[in-house]
Order: sequence, then structure tokens, then C-alpha cells
Amino acid sequence: MRRFQQYIDGQFEDAGASFPSIDPATGEPWAMMPEARSGDVERAVEAAHRALHSGPWPTLTPTARGKLLMRLAELTATNAQALAEVETRDTGKIIRETSAQIAYVADYYAYYGGLADKIEGAHLPIDKQDMEVWIRREPVGVVAAIVPWNSQLFLTAVKLGPALAAGCTVVLKASEDGPAPLLEFARLVDEAGFPPGVVNIITGFGDECGAALTRHPKVAHVAFTGGPVTARHIIRNSADNLASTSLELGGKSPFVVFADADLQSAANAQVAGIFAAAGQSCVAGSRLIIEASVKDRFLAILKAKAESVRIGPPLDASTEVGPLCTDRQRRLIESVVEEALAAGAGLVTGGRTPDGPGFYYPPTILDCDGAEVSATSTELFGPVLCVISFDTEEQAIELANSTPFGLAAGIFTQNLTRAHRMIRRITAGVVWVNTYRAVSPIAPFGGYGMSGHGREGGLAAALDYTRTKTVWLRTSDDPIPDPFVMR
Ligand code: NAD
Repeated sequence: MRRFQQYIDGQFEDAGASFPSIDPATGEPWAMMPEARSGDVERAVEAAHRALHSGPWPTLTPTARGKLLMRLAELTATNAQALAEVETRDTGKIIRETSAQIAYVADYYAYYGGLADKIEGAHLPIDKQDMEVWIRREPVGVVAAIVPWNSQLFLTAVKLGPALAAGCTVVLKASEDGPAPLLEFARLVDEAGFPPGVVNIITGFGDECGAALTRHPKVAHVAFTGGPVTARHIIRNSADNLASTSLELGGKSPFVVFADADLQSAANAQVAGIFAAAGQSCVAGSRLIIEASVKDRFLAILKAKAESVRIGPPLDASTEVGPLCTDRQRRLIESVVEEALAAGAGLVTGGRTPDGPGFYYPPTILDCDGAEVSATSTELFGPVLCVISFDTEEQAIELANSTPFGLAAGIFTQNLTRAHRMIRRITAGVVWVNTYRAVSPIAPFGGYGMSGHGREGGLAAALDYTRTKTVWLRTSDDPIPDPFVMR
């Protein structure tokens, strides 16, 4: 079995404990992972705190910080395939998705490398004589970055890129499910030449490692991606250190299709929107809201596509849908689908766990019209599409906004004025019109409501890793009058 190590203060080392990581394609352990306990977390945060205040990092110019990020971008691009293979092995996400995604991850580091020396302060036209007043933007401090298992390298880049551009130091916690890609990525951070302690990469379980990290008094900001239940723990823990938080949480995103849409094109987007990454994506378009007059036609197209998807080993380049990451996740999906079918939902396709090894689950479509089922509001994080139909635009909006989540939404229509009305009224942080799942380092991303707060991507994300210092400087050489002498 392969053994991975954690990366603290510029050193690769074993943690206080270790645990096996399971290959989702076989259900068997394939590697041993370092399990950071509270002592490891303590050393990682101390290293990040030292690197923030002493050594080369705090005196590097922003341009020099940017060059380090550019170097990390180059190394990520060069090693994308090797990283993709490790991520696929450890999480079951198929190789064609991991290799394309990681190649693009390099662009995020390049974007934030370019941004590092463009984070400007301000000079204020102050209402007082003989005063210069300006605002400096300084790094917020030590950042605890916590990521879930899906798309870990991507979800890391949207935190590490802006945090390092702003001059912060980071303790990054990989998920206990499939941490290998981040532990492997640590080699590139090391090779890029970041000073020791600037980036520390550990993994461990949420209740010990995650809790110790998020409540540590020297952590100033927690950048979290994961589920809403964990987010609440993090908010409670950050009451100890009063750290600021950015929370990128789950979704139950509506995919709204009007009768006038190009149905073939919308069906391709819907299939990618729910079955890519076997549905284990925060922006999965998991609720199809379809105009009733085209429901049967659209479902026939989707059913044919879902049934022709190639399900197979994730490392095989021809596989289109691989296994789920964990057996735990598959069991949750099985139970919610069974409950939906028992409550009257129609099974359009899928819905049956295949025999054999690995955590596979087939692309599944549930017709939920007329059935009160939790599948339409619970984030399943799997390849399960719930279908609900509408007759009027007003009903479509009501259905789209009917969950507490608000991460993303898709609208498919050829009617421009209707598209604009929908964009205004849908409660989601990202709206895609006649497209789905597009992302870019230049575009902010994040949710409304139970999908969290804070934005990743774009310039504003880098500003979120800074705090302002207001400086007052008196320019007069006249002595300051004695305040107790009356004139
Ligand atoms: P999770 O919330 O169970 O775990 C996420 C991370 O939090 C892991 O590293 C875990 O170890 C850590 N953690 C757990 N308990 C903790 C605690 N008490 N304190 C600190 N850290 C703790 O999520 P998951 O099941 O790994 O991932 C799936 C979830 O992530 C879904 O809800 C999905 O929608 C969400 N997600 C959101 C986005 C987004 O950008 N909005 C992107 C990807 C995934």
C-alpha cells in the first residue's frame, strides 16, 4: 500500500496516527493516510503563524509572491495528469474529469499570481487640514482552509490562490475521504519554493482535526467548503477565536426548461449537469423543472442518454460515470430513492444498485410529479435527477425557489425577456442561461441561503483575505498645542 505524509513547516512527515483510504472502484484499502490529531494541528498553525510574522514571507514584495503563484501554476499544469490519476484512484472521480479539471486549476493559480500586485489600498480626501490619510490592505492572518473530498484540488485553488496573493499563510485540511491528491500536491508547493510554514497540508477527521483547527486562537479566517451541518459546527467553533468565515455549502439546484428551449441542447446540459462526477457536485442540476407540454418528449431524450452512459472503472479513459466516493453516500442515496418510490414517485430509469465490487450507482431519474418526497429537497450528492413539471412561468419560479438552498440555477429558453425576468427572481448565487456548470477564475462563485456566504473566484475573493489598516499622518511641523492651555 502507498503511504502518504503530511506537510508542515516545509517538511514531509508522518502524523501521530494513520488511517486507510478506500479505493471506491474496488471497496478495498489502497493507501495509508496521515491522521492529524490536535498536536499536529497545533504545530501546523504555529508554523503558519511564524511564517506570517517572521522569515522571508512577510517581507516579500507582492510581485514576488505573485511569481511563486505563477510557478505553482506551471507545476500544476505540468503535473496535471499525475495528480489526476491520484485523485481518481482515491475518490473514484473519473479520469477524464479529473485531468480536465486539474489542467484548468493551473489557470486559477496563474490568475491569482497576476493579481498579487494589483491589490491596492486607497488614499482618502480627508476633511482635515495637514493630514494624509490612507488605507493599507494587509493579509487577514493565518487561514484555515477546509475542503470536502470532491474536486479537492479545484476547491483548494480557489482558497489558496487568493489567500497567498493577499499575503496570508495557510493550514489546509484535506478531507478524510480521498485526501491523496492534496497530499501529493504538497510536493508541488514545496518545489515552487514557498518559504516553510506558508502552506501546510494535513488531513484528519472533522471532530478532532477540523475542530482543533477552526477554533485555534491563531486562526484568523476559516475558508470552508462542505455541507451545511459541518458549517454550523465551524460557526460554533469560530466563536472561540472570532475568526471570519466564508462558507461554500451544498445545493439542490433547479434546472428550468421551457417548451421553447432547444431541447436536445438542454438535454445534453442536463445530463452533464446531473451525471457528471456521478452527481457528486455542489452545483449538480438535481431538480429538473420542466414545462408540462414538453415533459414526455424531454424525459424520453434524457432516458435514452442516461441508459447509454458508459459506467465503468474510473481510471479507464472511456468511462463516463464512475463509482461514488463512499459506501456511506451510496447507502444514503439508496434509502432516499427507495423512500421516494414507495411514496409514489415514478422510476424513469436507474434506481437499482448493481452487483459487484465498488460503490457504483446508476444514473437515475425520478418523476416526482404529484409525490411529496424528500428527494426533491435533500441534497443527495449522487446521480439522481428529480423531475417536477409546471404550466406557468410563475410556477416555475416558485418551484425553483422552493428549497432553502441557493447555489446555482439553469434556465433554458429562447425567450430573452423571460430569461431576464427569471434571472432577477431566482434566488441563487450563480445563474446560467442556456448553459450549465461554466466556471472561471475571473467570475465570483458562491451561494445564497443554506448554500453559504462569501464568494470564491475573481478580484473580490482576494480582497476577502485582507483587512484594512487606516493610517493618519500629520504633515504640519507646527507643534501640537498643549490641550490644557486655554487660548
Ligand atoms: P463535509 O461537510 O462532511 O466535510 C467537509 C470537510 O469538513 C471535510 O474536510 C471534513 O473533515 C471537515 N469537517 C467535518 N466536521 C468538521 C468539524 N466539526 N470542524 C471542522 N471541519 C470539519 O462535506 P463532504 O461530505 O465531504 O462534501 C460534500 C458537501 O460539500 C456537499 O454538501 C457539497 O454540496 C458541498 N460542496 C460545496 C461546494 C461549493 O462550492 N459550494 C463545492 C463542493 C462541495
